[in-house]
Order: sequence, then C-alpha cells, then structure tokens
Amino acid sequence: MLNREGRPTAPAARDLDAAAPSFTGARALEKDEPLLFEIGGLDRSGVDVEEAGDFAPRLGGLERTRAIGLPGLSEPETMRHYVRLSRMNYAIDLGIYPLGSCTMKHNPRLDEKVARLPGFADAHPLQPESTVQGALALMKELSRWLCALTGMPAIALPPKAGAHGEMCGMMAIKAAIEASGELETRTTVLAPESAHGTNPATAAALGFKVRAVPARADGTVDPGAVGEALGPDVAAIMLTNPNTCGLFERDAREIAARVRAAGGYFYGDGANFNAIVGKVRPGDLGVDAMHINLHKTFSTPHGGGGPGAGPVALSERLARFAPAPAVVETAHGLRLMEEPAGGSFGRMAAFHGQMGMFTRALAYMMSHGADGLRQASEDAVLNANYVRARLADVLSAPWGDRPCMHEALFDDAWLKGTGVTTLDFAKAMIDEGFHPMTMYFPLVVHGAMLIEPTESESRRSLDEFIGALRDLARRAKQGGAGFAEAPIHAPRRRLDETLAARRPKLRWSATPERAAAE
Ligand SMILES: *Cc1c(COP(=O)(O)O)cnc(C)c1O
Repeated sequence: MLNREGRPTAPAARDLDAAAPSFTGARALEKDEPLLFEIGGLDRSGVDVEEAGDFAPRLGGLERTRAIGLPGLSEPETMRHYVRLSRMNYAIDLGIYPLGSCTMKHNPRLDEKVARLPGFADAHPLQPESTVQGALALMKELSRWLCALTGMPAIALPPKAGAHGEMCGMMAIKAAIEASGELETRTTVLAPESAHGTNPATAAALGFKVRAVPARADGTVDPGAVGEALGPDVAAIMLTNPNTCGLFERDAREIAARVRAAGGYFYGDGANFNAIVGKVRPGDLGVDAMHINLHKTFSTPHGGGGPGAGPVALSERLARFAPAPAVVETAHGLRLMEEPAGGSFGRMAAFHGQMGMFTRALAYMMSHGADGLRQASEDAVLNANYVRARLADVLSAPWGDRPCMHEALFDDAWLKGTGVTTLDFAKAMIDEGFHPMTMYFPLVVHGAMLIEPTESESRRSLDEFIGALRDLARRAKQGGAGFAEAPIHAPRRRLDETLAARRPKLRWSATPERAAAE
C-alpha cells in the first residue's frame, strides 16, 4: 500500500487493537518506567563495601544518624532507568521540532566538540585570570561577532536566557532613566498585543506598568498607534522583530524615532534574530537594547528549561550601564572587570555567563562565516514559506496571502464545524511521530498554530512533515474521528495539565500513609 506521498506504508498501527496490552505493559521497546525510588529499595545498595565498623566520627555531633533515603540500584539498573526515560523524549536529533518561537535547529557536532575541549569545558570560574586567557579571548571574540551582527557597540554576556536578557536590557534602560532623574515619571512600558509573555512579565517585574499597543489588521505594529500610546510616562517600548506572527515590522525605524523623540528607549526582543542575521542589523533600526538567544539563533541543544544564554547588545547611550563583569584588555592581558567604569547597574548573575554556550555559539559563527550565517537566515525563511505555501490550500492562515519570515502562522478557522480543536490537531501529530508546533500563541490569533521549521530541515523532511499535516487535515475535515483521543501511541496520553500545575507532586514518599499526609 502506498500513502498519499507515494511511499509504502505498513498496516497502520491505528488499525491494530490498541486495547490489547502486553504482559509487561510495554509496547515493544517502549517500556513504562517507574520512579527510581520504586525500582531501588532504600535497604539496598548498588555498591558492595563492608560496613565501616567502629570508629569515632569527628563531625562535632553533626553526623547523620538516619538513613540517607536514596534508592539503591545497581549500575545497569541505573543506566537502564535513564535510557528508558530518554526514549520517551522527543529530540531534535530524532526529527523535526517545529515549535514556533523556539528555533529548535540542528546542533552541529563540531560545536559540541569544541565546547568539550578541556581548556573551555574544565575551566573553573574562580581560576586566576592568567590561567584562562583563552576563554576570556573567546568571550571577547564572541562579543565582537555579536556587535558586528547587531550593528551595536556594546555586548553584555552574563544573562543566562532570553528572559534574563530582557531583564538585563530593561535594567540598563531603568538605570539610564534613573541617571536622568526621570525614574518617578517614566513608569510605563509599551508592548504590542502579540508580544511574547516574557516581555510584559519583565517590565512588570521591574515595577513598570504595561500598556498594550494593538496590532493593525496586517499583523504588524502601526507607528501611529505607538504615537498615541506614547507620553512623558513612557520608559520604553518592547518590540520583537520579526514579530511573533512571523512578520517583519517594516515600520520599526519610524517607531524607534517616535519613541526616542518622546524620551523613551527601544527594547528589541531578539529571539527571532534567526530570520535576519546577516540581512538586518538591529542597531540600524534604532534598537537601544536587544537580547540574543544564543541557544536559538546560534545552536546549543535547548528545551526542557535549559541551558541557555541571552547576551544583550546595547546602544551607545546604554553601554555604560551594562552589568558587570566585562572582559577588558589591559597591559597584563585580558581581565574580567568587576567594576566597569561609569554607571553599571551591577550584576545579573554569579560569575560571567554560560561558557559552554559561548563556545558553541562562536564555533557556530566561525564555521558558518558571515556568508553562511546570512544563508542560514535565508534558508530558514525559505523553509517556512515552503511550509506555508504547501499547506495554504488545506489550513487557514491569518496573513496567508503574504510571505512570512522564519515562521508560518495558521489559525483554526479551517477547523470550524469539525469538532476538532487546535489542541486535538497537535496531539494527533504526536501519533504521526512529530513534536507539535507551538499552539495558541501568539494570543492575537485564534487557535494559533505556529510552525518554525528552521534552516536545518531538508526538502525531504519538510515534505514528510507536510504530508502528515495534510493527511491529518483531511481526516479532521472528514468527521475528525479519533482526534479527541489522540495521542494513542505515546507513552503518556493527555495529561491533566491544570491539576499538574495546581497540585504538582514534587515529593516521593516511602509509604502511602506519608504520601496521603503530604
Ligand atoms: C524564546 C523567546 C523569549 C524568551 O527566551 P528564553 O530563552 O526562553 O528565556 C522571549 N521572546 C521571544 C519572542 C521568544 O521567542
């Protein structure tokens, strides 16, 4: 039998009796896995050492008197536990990871190899500076590349994620406002309705009020609307470009000029830099501060909470407020300057930032070269437009008639009357072997489905993905049978996410009585 893409298919697993369980509960190599505590006994140990015998502890009465409470497992049991868990995970090394806004791209093994070089990987942040000159030189070189790519004069390396970078950039803006004596009056930050949630959250965490700027019908921000929202109370605007709808903000320069004329600052959310590296320099758009998610644009395996790095590019007027430490060149070599001259607002984090990510990012940049980085952006945009165009006749898209940047955005208008929701559709993708796209974001689009294929995907891999989505769309429109139950092949079906968020079980207890009491 051939599927619609002309490739042979096995009899669909869907047709098998999903209700017939195996003796072990496993599905072939897919095994359910209990907690470590449930496998290993507290009374067992994976190592075979003799009892210590009689000895006098010298811990001043602070020695432990009760069992430590860790489960004892043998080495093979331990290995199997983690390998089995890892098999339940989806990963960029398994298949396309089309999460919009996340830029899940292939991580070149070359970058990994470089990051593992002992001189970088084994360096300790408290080592004397004279012994880590190479690592400091790498940080300086990375800053130089980031300055060149952003067209901005200064880089702060310490922030450890995009959101942390937003915090850093906005703290620099706040410090500048304080220095000009306007902290009491400039209390508001503007953010478009389509903004990533971290933007208003960052502003609010720093004590600013957030004023939403509505999007115009074409999905972009209108300088006129920004003008209306501006006033002497505005500290800054936070704008993502390309925005979270996958569209380039064409009026960014005019917006910047208006904000600046009103005495405010322009924070650029650079999480979508992957679409414009080598094509547009944010500094040329009038951006004052912009974080760069090294873990998105410049590779680094991320997801599940880390690791990340969010260096911030700063304009001339913000550079002196940058956080400590900074890498500076002195007569005695490179130094991590703890007290940079001028108005540094202080520290963002312990030490100097994420060395492993710096190494990967610079390896990525240098191996691509300036022309390669530009081509990666172009390919990312091309791939997204290929997905957009090849799904245009089956899915609906709010701005589907126009080319997108690096993300293709669809809505749920096409699902109307089918009984299938965006969530059902995403869950059905899991049964087809794909990680779902980003759902219900950006909030300005109803039932949004945001697909970011990145430049990593080949034409063949995109065609397979598109073929699966087209087939799911056909099934959804033909009555949508099975969608409410999806996923049926995943190790876990639909979780009660509300319950998990409201009453998370964070502790394991040895006895059911204690568990009930907790
Ligand atoms: C990913 C992202 C962020 C936050 O970055 P983290 O590294 O996840 O903290 C902020 N804004 C946008 C538009 C993003 O896509």
